[in-house]
Amino acid sequence: MATYACTKDELKLPPDGQLVKWENGKLIVPDNPIVVFIEGDGIGPEIVTSARKVLDAAVEKAYGGKRKIVWWEMLAGEKAQKECGVLLPEATIEALKTTRVGLKGPLTTPVGSGYRSLNVAIRKLLDLYSNVRPVKWYGQPAPHRYADKVNFLIFRENTEDVYAGIEWPAGSEDALKIIEFLKKEFGVELTPDTGIGLKPISEFKTKRHMRKAMEWAIKLGYNRVTIMHKGNIMKYTEGAFREWAYQVALEEFRDVVITEDELWSKYNGEIPEGKILVNDRIADNMLQQIITRPWDYQVIVTPNLNGDYISDEANALVGGIGMAAGINVGDGRAVGEPVHGTAPKYAGKNVINPTAEILSGVLLIADFMGWKEVRPLVENAIRKAIANKIVTYDLARHMPGVEPVKTTEYTEALIQFIKEA
Ligand code: NAP
Repeated sequence: MATYACTKDELKLPPDGQLVKWENGKLIVPDNPIVVFIEGDGIGPEIVTSARKVLDAAVEKAYGGKRKIVWWEMLAGEKAQKECGVLLPEATIEALKTTRVGLKGPLTTPVGSGYRSLNVAIRKLLDLYSNVRPVKWYGQPAPHRYADKVNFLIFRENTEDVYAGIEWPAGSEDALKIIEFLKKEFGVELTPDTGIGLKPISEFKTKRHMRKAMEWAIKLGYNRVTIMHKGNIMKYTEGAFREWAYQVALEEFRDVVITEDELWSKYNGEIPEGKILVNDRIADNMLQQIITRPWDYQVIVTPNLNGDYISDEANALVGGIGMAAGINVGDGRAVGEPVHGTAPKYAGKNVINPTAEILSGVLLIADFMGWKEVRPLVENAIRKAIANKIVTYDLARHMPGVEPVKTTEYTEALIQFIKEA
């Protein structure tokens, strides 16, 4: 029976693996990196198991045994509650800090646990400040006729905005104090039945987020970066976000960046090889433009709340949540996790689509850790499975006459396609 670390003192690094290091702003990845995995709740164990198997097969295929992931299980959520008596053991956070890399399944936050959300707690404790969500089409049934033109990488700021949780209910002593203060100091009139929330957006946190987005755009070969904001109305938060993001692009990445003006004045509307167009769009316009002209957008950099809205909309264009991958990234640290939740009604039934979790692992292994060969192997296997109508229930229900396969059967099919590649 497996034993798990709950406290820091109980942590023992797997002897066959080595740590990923972060030195002078560079990630150093050994050939046998220790990667933490957290199964999570509900469907989590099934999809994380599937992801680990598919990723292992792709690494084996790509590097013929020269490289290997050494998985290290840590607990969070219900399993942690059972084994350690807490939802988020200190060992788990310490292990993620030490290894720098993790892949997690979705987590439930039981009501009244003292955590706003376990996911938010993990992101905060590790300062994973950018949430990165690619949106792509792999041939799955999709409601949008331009689904094949969608290739976005959404960069959602993870730590600020109205999501920071600084708020007070209407009528509370604190809210009334703030209303009084605003009236006295600034002449702002609010009625006593007003709930109050703050929207902090800072220069430092915006700039590091934009910097990360530019770095990813360069390393993954995207040539368009769009700053999405509502700065025309919220001038000193979202407007400032736009200004600071442009500053990073133009002061730190000038050798590769071209502006929208330059695109037309110098380059006749064509982005030259090796250059990245950096422009901005107002949020409401952006939400309709990704539908009408998805080919005009690639990397989308935005504050927290806009990022939440646009990533669900974008994923809907290409056919839904079972395919929607994500990763939370900080300086020299990352934790992959799918966009969807624990889907409790499907837990243990071996029916759920593991693709989002698998692609979250690809973000970690291929894009963050730099084992680039893993991405095409896994993506091509997913494309092949869908083209051969080997799909789980969520996709099968939109494909007339197609019988769904089990999660494990889909996983085995992907592994087979990877082996044959
Ligand atoms: P959910 O777990 O995402 O599930 C909603 C629906 O989405 C499912 O009923 C299913 O739709 C579909 N779905 C989700 N994952 C799928 C997959 N892998 N393959 C195919 N279909 C999938 O959302 P929820 O029911 O609102 O939330 C349940 C719990 O998850 C809550 O406790 C919530 O707090 C938590 N949550 C955690 C995270 C996280 O850990 N990052 C994120 C979101 C939510 P159909 O029934 O139509 O097939």
